[in-house]
Formats: sequence, structure tokens, C-alpha cells
Amino acid sequence: MKTFYHSTRNGGEPLTSKQAILRGIAPDGGLYVSDQLGEETLDMAAMVNQDYHETAQKVLATLIPDYSTEEIGSCVRDAYAENFDTPAVVPLTPLGSDWLLELSHGPTCAFKDVALQLLPHLMSVARGKSEHRIMIVTATSGDTGKAALAGFADVEGTGVTVFYPEGKVSEIQHLQMTTQLGRNVAVCGVEGTFDDCQTQVKRIFADTALSERLHGRGVALSSANSINVGRLVPQVVYYVDAYAQLVRSGAISVGDAVDFCVPTGNFGDVLAGYYAKRLGLPVGRLIVASNTNKVLTDFLKTGSYDRRRDFVKTISPSMDILVSSNFERMLYYLTDGDSERVGAWMAELATQGVYSIGDELLGRLRETFYGEFATDDETRRTIRTTWEEEHILIDPHTAVAKTILDRHEHNGRMRVCLSTANPYKFPADVLAALGHDTQGKDDFACMDELQRLTGIAAPRQLSTLRGAPVMHDSICAKEAMASFVESATARIFR
Ligand SMILES: *Cc1c(COP(=O)(O)O)cnc(C)c1O
Repeated sequence: MKTFYHSTRNGGEPLTSKQAILRGIAPDGGLYVSDQLGEETLDMAAMVNQDYHETAQKVLATLIPDYSTEEIGSCVRDAYAENFDTPAVVPLTPLGSDWLLELSHGPTCAFKDVALQLLPHLMSVARGKSEHRIMIVTATSGDTGKAALAGFADVEGTGVTVFYPEGKVSEIQHLQMTTQLGRNVAVCGVEGTFDDCQTQVKRIFADTALSERLHGRGVALSSANSINVGRLVPQVVYYVDAYAQLVRSGAISVGDAVDFCVPTGNFGDVLAGYYAKRLGLPVGRLIVASNTNKVLTDFLKTGSYDRRRDFVKTISPSMDILVSSNFERMLYYLTDGDSERVGAWMAELATQGVYSIGDELLGRLRETFYGEFATDDETRRTIRTTWEEEHILIDPHTAVAKTILDRHEHNGRMRVCLSTANPYKFPADVLAALGHDTQGKDDFACMDELQRLTGIAAPRQLSTLRGAPVMHDSICAKEAMASFVESATARIFR
């Protein structure tokens, strides 16, 4: 079966998934979607006895079927090997009466590794023997940047440029990016927020004059953000795998519905849960967990998406997002593929900062999605109680989700809390949450103290950042991002 992808804002110009992955974002600013989603479903009974690699094979074959079985097989083998510190890749462990899906066992200690260890392989296959080289341009709220750098560093025929909001990521996240080695990498802080970075990156992709100049150098731009369908589909796998682990543990039987609570920013992770549901996974509720930047919580209450509000810097920076890009895909499926309406809403969002979908569609959305938010104080309290009561150390993003789960009684369904980052990425905030003084301590001093207090070792890839040489110190205004990309391209693809 051939799956064709096309823009959310335009039903025309079908692409194969390889083309969609190479392009990243559609020229009209839309995101690539497939109308075949859900036509082919997974055999859940068979999934239960498969390991992560086999499940990944089956899920990817359904969502990106123009890749051959051999191609997918080799991508999956290369992506999920010793670079993850456990053969389970995404182990599921008990969390009180709920479950914790540990997604941060990859090389950069955040869930983004699950997709970004695979994406470069998918791109290399899609590129084939083509002369065209790819410059990945990515905006990051903290974790995508490092995961993209780690995935693409020194990958033949590719370069990667990462923009992060200067001063709005943790010290460890900052060092993870600025110490990145590789001859094909560029990193730049931006004077602005993540939303500024993301908006500007989208403009860069839409800048035809720029793309023509780069084309002259034999370079095409692409995205490693979750707007790229190649970022999204690998994330579907772990929902299915988590379900299989639940069945194997005896917690559920095949067919039982399971709720997933997802710390949410750009809506990529939780959207992958929706894709899994469309593939036949018995998903009960998808709980959209937000921090104080609670645009989605409000949206799921009122049906009105309103980004006209102050941006709040929280202790879960990877969720400090007011424009959740992947929500556009959800709107597409919610309207049964009404590109015109989706395009009109996105135009309203861009010009007026708000759009409304009306009660009927909101009702449909709420059949699956449910949203709440947690404040920083609540999040800190959850980190502390989870440590004191369960002896499990969770990061602030995961704690946002757990806060929301803890507010609700069990309704009989199993509940899975997605754990999206290792706590040692945010050592100061986690240490403070445990009730300790962090005054005057840098992230490494906090890391030491956390290790001493908890007896849990910091991952090597974070502790060794201490003393690693800083390779990147560029900072630019958001208006200068396009020219940064152009000069990075010139340097990398000489
Ligand atoms: C990116 C990120 C999120 C948000 O995921 P989205 O797919 O953007 O919704 C949550 N937690 C952590 C640790 C992240 O890095």
C-alpha cells in the first residue's frame, strides 16, 4: 500500500513518506499528514510477545510504508542499540498504583532521543544516493536541540543548526548543546522565547529566496522538530510497547483500555498517543498535562485556542510553549481532513492570536483528550512526595503529569505516566524541590548533592559535561536567524 502525505492546509500534491520526512514542513506552512491513518490496524495480540525492535518494525511499516521492510529493519537496529542504556529501550516501572514509562534512557536523557536516534537513519535512507545535502534547522525549548545534535552529528550529507532561547533553558541543557562536537553542527542562542525561535524557523522554511540560494549550493533545509512526520511516527511505538509491557506484567489483558498522562508542550508526544489509538491500541484517555503556560488546558475547556497571554518561565522549560505546532495535525483529523478550515484557523492564530473550533468539534476532541495544568509549586511538591513516598526521583516535566494523575481517583483503568526526562537534567530545581538550599550552587554542585542525598547516580553523559570545552557561543536576535543558517550552511558544506 502506498501512503501519501500532504499538507494539513492543502489536500493536493501528494508525497511519499520519504519525501515528507526529507522536507519536514510543507511549503504552505502546513504539516504533513496522511489520510490513510488508521486504515490498517495493528494485531494487538501479536504485539504482546514482541520486543521493542519488532514492535517498531510493525508500527513504522504501517505509518511509512514506502520504506521497505529491510530499510526499516536496519534503521531500527541502528537506532536502538547500545546508545540506550537498557535493552528494553523504554522500560515500564510501577509508580504507586500507576505506571511510569521511562523514556529518557537514550544518549541525551530526554524522550526526544527515541525519535531523534531514528530520524537521521530514516533521512539517510530517504536521501539515497542523491547529491542533495540536508541542513536540519531546529528550534528547541531545551531538549530537542541536544537530541538533534546527538542524532545528526557527523552524519554524512547532513548538517544541523539548533536555535534555543538564550537564558530559558537549564544550565545542563545549555552545556549539553554548547559543548557538542562534530564538524557539521551549529548552535545559536536567540534573544527571545521558544515561540519566537519556532516562528522564525517556520519563516526560514517558507523563505523561497533563501531556499533557492541554498539550492544553488546543493543544500535543502529540513526540520528535526516534531513538525517532521519522521519525528512523530517513532513516538507511536512506545505507546504500543508500553501496552505490551502492561499485558506481560499481568496488569491488564489484551483489549483493556489504558489512560496515558503526557507532559505536553508542542503536542508531539501526546499526538503520537492519538496515532496509536487510530492504529487500534486500546487507549482510554489521553491526558494533556501542561504547566502554567496552559493554553491547551484552556482550549480543552472552552474550544478557544488563545495565545494572547504572557509567557511564563517555569521549572519545566521544555513545556514553556504557547503555540503547540502539532495541534494542527489534530485539527486536521478532528475535522475529517478539512484543510480549508485548518488553514483558516492557523491564519487567525497568526494574525489575531486566537481561533475557536465550536462546541461540536470540542465535544469530539474531549472524547479522547482531557487537559489540566500544574503550577511550579505543585510540581515541586510532587517531586518531593514521589521521592519520599515511592523513592522514585522524577524530573519537573514528569512531575507535572504526576501532579495531575494524583488529583484524580482511579477509575478502574490502568494509567501510564510518561517520564520524559532524567531528573539530573534539572538538578537545581529538583534539589530545591526536595527542600534543600540551592543558593549559590551551580548545576554540578546540585548534581553532587542530589547524588549524595538519593544514592541515585547521575547519568555519565550529564556528569561529564563538567569541564567539557564549550564549542559554541553564538547569540543572535531573532531577525538574524536566517542569516545564521546561511553562514552555517556555507561553513559546513564548503
Ligand atoms: C519536549 C518535551 C516535552 C513536551 O513534548 P511535546 O512533544 O513537545 O509535547 C515534555 N517533557 C520534556 C522533558 C521534553 O523534552
